[in-house]
This record gives sequence, structure tokens and C-alpha cells, in this order.
Amino acid sequence: MESSHEQFGDRTVVILSGPSGSGKSTIVNRLMTECPIKLVKMISATTRPKRIGEVEGEDYYYITNEEFQHRRLNGEFVEFENVYASGFWYGTLKSELERAWSVGGLPFLEIDVNGARRVMELYPDAISIFIRAASDGDYERRLRGRGTESEEVIQRRLANARRELESAHVYKYQVCNDQLDRAVHEITQILIAQKGNSTCTKNS
Ligand code: ADP
Ligand code: 5GP
Repeated sequence: MESSHEQFGDRTVVILSGPSGSGKSTIVNRLMTECPIKLVKMISATTRPKRIGEVEGEDYYYITNEEFQHRRLNGEFVEFENVYASGFWYGTLKSELERAWSVGGLPFLEIDVNGARRVMELYPDAISIFIRAASDGDYERRLRGRGTESEEVIQRRLANARRELESAHVYKYQVCNDQLDRAVHEITQILIAQKGNSTCTKNS
């Protein structure tokens, strides 16, 4: 992966990670409508098939493996990862960060721990937040409750959850999503407190 320092200067980003089922997507959706900081959700490119209800350009840019590898070789990604060793690629596009910064917003990345480590190297001032559930059993309960994955995929994601929890300490903040409202409030407070250190502007 090439360095993006020159291109992006000292502009910063928000990174949110956590095991599958920790509630990341739910929290992101709430923050996008409720947070007083101008956040711009980064739309990742992925080779994973679209789930029922997902929308091209809103949830992801769904591209073929061939196109992903072409764009990777072209240096279009800040980071990219074969997440959960699923065989599916996910990556954050440089053009997405520029899209946020060009409107005075703070790029909001919901990415896995490996991708997050790379972004932290590129942007040491990144506001990095790790979401965890209150207990280990919550991940399985929530994943099954969501009902979007096959048994095989659920098992792979649960195994990966253990590995991801081991990386929690590299994040600046850890937030427990025991109650959704409380977790959303806590993250909002973190972002407001960090506002002075970032280039973001307020929505008003
Ligand atoms: P992730 O994006 O981390 O995989 P999701 O946001 O899809 O997780 O959440 C997984 C499931 O858990 C969803 O069905 C969601 O509605 C539910 N959920 C999220 N947060 C909570 C919470 N605090 N308490 C109970 N259920 C939750
Ligand atoms: P899902 O398939 O459930 O949408 O996402 C699976 C995992 O991929 C989640 O942990 C999510 O954070 C991660 N992910 C989504 N987009 C990216 C990305 O652009 N880069 C990396 N490294 N991980 C991503």
C-alpha cells in the first residue's frame, strides 16, 4: 500500500471498529442523523454480494473482484482487506476521504481492525473507537437475531470476534454497546470533545 500523507496532509478521520454483531451499523446510522458534528459516512468498495435491503452507493459500492484488484493496483485505496478471510475484499477509497473533506466534513470509517491499524498509521490523529458488547454471548445473539448470515458465516465471524477483541487496546476509545442510546451518546460526546483537534465543522 502506498502512503497517502502528502495527498491528505494532516486531515483526520474517525474510525469505528468492533466484532460482527457489536452494533456498529446500527450506531453509525444513529450518529449520521443525530450527531451535531458533520460526519460523512465513507462508502467502502466491496466484492461481497449485496444483501437484501442494501443499496448500491449507500451501503457499499459493489464491484467485481477484477475491478477491485484493478483499482487496488491503481493506488485508489487508503486500505483494503480480505475481511474475515471470507474471500471478499473491502476497501476505503481515497476519493471517499476527499469527498468528506471537500465539504468540511469528518470522514467516518466503519472498518475491520486490520484496516483500522493501517489508517491509524497514516493518520495518527485519527479518532479511533472500538465497540464491544457487554458480554461474549451478545455477539452470537445479535448476529442470529439480525438473520442476514448463513450458519457458516456466523461461525467464521464469531471466531474472528475473539481476534478483533484482542486489538481493542490499540483504539483511543472503547465503548460498550450495552444500551444503544447510551453508546450513541457516549460516542457523540467523544466526537464533540475531539472537535477542536479536527478539521470538521458543525452542522448548523
Ligand atoms: P454490526 O454492524 O456490528 O455487525 P449491527 O449493527 O448489524 O452489528 O447489529 C447486530 C444486531 O444487533 C442488529 O439486529 C441490531 O438491531 C442489534 N443491536 C444493535 N445494538 C444493540 C443493543 N445495544 N442492544 C440490543 N441489540 C442491539
Ligand atoms: P459486512 O459484510 O457485515 O458489511 O462487513 C464485514 C466487515 O467488513 C465489518 O467488520 C466492517 O467493519 C468491515 N469493513 C467494511 N468496509 C471495510 C473497508 O473498507 N475496509 C476494511 N478493512 N474493512 C471494512
